[in-house]
Amino acid sequence: MQTDNLVTLDRDHLVHPVVNYRTHEQRGVTVLTSGRGAYLQDSSGRELLDAFSGLWCVNTGYGHESIVRAAEEQMRQLPYATGYFHFGSEPAIRLAAKLVELTPASLQRVYFTMGGSDAVDSAIRFIVNYWNAQGKSEKKHFITLERGYHGSSSQGAGLTALPVFHRNFDLPLPNQHRIPSPYPYRNPLGSDPAAIIESSVAALRDKVHELGADRVAAFFCEPIQGSGGVIVPPKGWLKAMQECCQELGILFVVDEVITGFGRTGPMFACEAEGVTPDLMTLAKGLTAGYAPMGAVMMSDAVYQGIAEGAADLPIGHGHTYSAHPVSAAVALEVLRLYQEGGLLENGIALAPRFEEGLRAMLDHPLVGDARSRGFLGALELVADKQSKERFDPSLKLADRLFEAAYDNGIILRAFADNVLGFAPALCYTSNDFDLLFERLERTLNAVLDQPEVRQAL
Ligand code: PMP
Repeated sequence: MQTDNLVTLDRDHLVHPVVNYRTHEQRGVTVLTSGRGAYLQDSSGRELLDAFSGLWCVNTGYGHESIVRAAEEQMRQLPYATGYFHFGSEPAIRLAAKLVELTPASLQRVYFTMGGSDAVDSAIRFIVNYWNAQGKSEKKHFITLERGYHGSSSQGAGLTALPVFHRNFDLPLPNQHRIPSPYPYRNPLGSDPAAIIESSVAALRDKVHELGADRVAAFFCEPIQGSGGVIVPPKGWLKAMQECCQELGILFVVDEVITGFGRTGPMFACEAEGVTPDLMTLAKGLTAGYAPMGAVMMSDAVYQGIAEGAADLPIGHGHTYSAHPVSAAVALEVLRLYQEGGLLENGIALAPRFEEGLRAMLDHPLVGDARSRGFLGALELVADKQSKERFDPSLKLADRLFEAAYDNGIILRAFADNVLGFAPALCYTSNDFDLLFERLERTLNAVLDQPEVRQAL
């Protein structure tokens, strides 16, 4: 492959998501060319162990022929069907019914999107419409967690509580508010689960009282915060947040874009917590990245409330590619692989191996914390294990880690706060984990050997 030409064309024309544009122009693109199972190849022929499932989405691993066949057959049969004008297609209808069967009992209706950001954006629009239809038009305020991620749409990026999504974008909006992240490793109250849960509930209650319960529309949260640094709250946290929302009369929205589809063990993280949200957003693992698709699931009460408020007018929310038949056919096959192809089972069986591998890294001089649930995990690197002091941002440790990992044959996520994120595909074997941790140790040692990093310790 003529990579030099591609690097030039990319530099000159392709705008990449969430990079520093100047850094990208200097570094140049890495062109990925093929994938099999948990492994990718780049255009230089380098073999890479993907420890991040693309972008926490290729939960099946790469190269599943049955998914390719499902897409091919659907493309041949009917490549597109609009959902407008009362039309529909068989795979989309079957997928909606399947998701209702798999998700918590409260969720009875599905609106399909192209990904997670428009799922969050749709959820916001449905919520606003619902409260207006209820005659509660003052309920316009949204609460999320600090370090939360809810996508990149005009409103969703304001619910996202990461500074780079706000800076120069005039966000957050005045109706978007935040409460502290539970963050066990850095919670000022310590890591006691009961204290963390109590303080989150108290923070939500205080925020709602400050704004006025009759002015708050919804609380959005991820069961495990992904892009904020894989922050795993104590068991029982999600349930306590739902109970608090019920008590305060605000909608409880769970964003399972990352945590869905076996990522944390069960099909959905809500399942393990016995939580029944009013709305849920999905994407990523829904199609395992083989085609773009997301979804908003809602309770029948929310659906009926919107329907009743519309008199005889259409509800003005729609996308050309909502319920795309090819994506739906892909999703149906992906769901079959999770359930009947042994992928969920493998994720549950090997989660202890993953956790043990991460915990073993705590012996490394750079690693302050190891955390995981299912096949979602992180290592947090610190300059001082006692004080948990972070490295100086000028050291650009995340960039160093990402490049060292790549040189050692792993793709992982290196967050700006010196957190390494891992989301292995559910097809990982114990040999893949052995290789991952061997390469990871080499990566950490390579970074530790850099004089600027040694000096910072
Ligand atoms: N919500 C969460 C929790 C996410 O992690 C993401 C993507 N990382 C999104 C929403 C947005 O999804 P997308 O990138 O598909 O638009």
